[in-house]
Amino acid sequence: MIIDSKIRLADLHCHLDLYPDFEEAVIAAEQAGVFTLAATTTPRAWPRNRQLTRGLNFVHAALGLHPQLAKERKDEIKIWERYLPEARFIGEVGLDGGPRYFKSLPIQKQIFEVVLRRCAESGGKVLTVHSTRCASTVLDMIEELLPPDRGRAILHWFGGSPLEVRRAAELGCYFSINVEMARNERGRRTIEAIPNGRILTETDGPFTQVEGRPSCPSDVALAVSAIAAISKVSPVVAENLVSANLRNLMESIGD
Ligand code: MN
Repeated sequence: MIIDSKIRLADLHCHLDLYPDFEEAVIAAEQAGVFTLAATTTPRAWPRNRQLTRGLNFVHAALGLHPQLAKERKDEIKIWERYLPEARFIGEVGLDGGPRYFKSLPIQKQIFEVVLRRCAESGGKVLTVHSTRCASTVLDMIEELLPPDRGRAILHWFGGSPLEVRRAAELGCYFSINVEMARNERGRRTIEAIPNGRILTETDGPFTQVEGRPSCPSDVALAVSAIAAISKVSPVVAENLVSANLRNLMESIGD
């Protein structure tokens, strides 16, 4: 069982290898007892992430190929495939249809298709998925290629409509929420639409900030408070909900 019963907080999407001191960031998250997925943006980062997290109770590396890097790094999908048998957690993967990246969408889709097919073949993987301005395409691909009994997607910083939230939930997806999402009305509406049983938390550090510094995994407590405020429950209730959801997610993939 990968989920320690003592786990209270979970950061399902954080880029520990992008902090000034990667090793220190891993140690701090482990000592804080925050279940943390260390997402990678290129599979070339996997060996070091794997090495630093091996044997830890709380921090786990995820094998990724970021959609924003698809154009320059498309050939690295071969490296990603080579490391796949070593990885239970996958990401950051997905699609980005924002103004800077939509031109590479055809390449992004080819890569994401390989990712989803290989994960479905292997079984037992949990994916942290980027879907900026591509919610419905990402959901179409998950529906076609990753049935919930073959792997589970956590939609990271999901920006889809309440209708798309409902569709994603029906496809078996989870959602990881960060404080930045709760800072605007649209994000709060997305959070409100997420079924209780599918909500998780993230920091997306170092790309979000707390008090003018990059968020670290223990700052995920702020995402828990935001969920509590939006759902009108106490922070303890929200914290219990997130940790129960994480356990259910891991059980659903046969951990
Ligand atoms: Mn990210």
